[in-house]
Amino acid sequence: MRKRAFTLLKLLDKLESRYGAQDPCWPTDPYEFLIWWHCGYPASDFACTKGWESLNREIGTAPRHILDASHSRLADVLKPGGMIPELRAMRLQEIAARVKDEFGGDLRSGLSGPIAKVRKALKTFPGIADPGADRILLFGSIVPVAAVPSNGTHVLERIHHARERENYGVQYREAQAAIEAEVPEKFDARCRAYLLLKRHGQEICKRAKPKCADCPVSGGCAFFTAQRP
Ligand code: SF4
Repeated sequence: MRKRAFTLLKLLDKLESRYGAQDPCWPTDPYEFLIWWHCGYPASDFACTKGWESLNREIGTAPRHILDASHSRLADVLKPGGMIPELRAMRLQEIAARVKDEFGGDLRSGLSGPIAKVRKALKTFPGIADPGADRILLFGSIVPVAAVPSNGTHVLERIHHARERENYGVQYREAQAAIEAEVPEKFDARCRAYLLLKRHGQEICKRAKPKCADCPVSGGCAFFTAQRP
């Protein structure tokens, strides 16, 4: 196996030197994250934040606010978040109703017990699969799992193996295993890894046309080495 030029922690240090310390731009409370996630479509930080800001300003985000609003009013308020506001309004009311009825209005307190049970509960909410559940578990300070940003799963695969997987699930699990092996099982360390890989995947190590010539970690990247003549 090719010897790595630097560890994952060293790589994260280099990314942090380039991008600075990162903070999540989404609400970290599990219920609020679920609402934020459906405030935009196609879901992106920008679209979800636009819809979320409009919802906060016009209606409020608590279950009672969302359930008291009419469907048409909610859909109108979600329009700044992009497409299909009617469907997103329905999803918000579904989430708010479930949190009110099944969790007594407090999803965070209801997410206790074995991780498999908590993960299963999260995955019953619309649009939440394993990567979304991991993100909620980590940023909601429930379990310090090795969550991987959806736009960063290819980053470690390129750096470590000079390749990309066609299967998203395989690539996700490999990136997750790399984080589990090298990043301490602590909330701050794993949130930091998530946020830096996300920023790098968004800005320089883009899925299409990575900007390798401008990359702060090219010296330790197998993909970059393999491209050189
Ligand atoms: S050198 Fe290129 S492929 Fe490697 S991490 Fe940087 S941008 Fe990504």
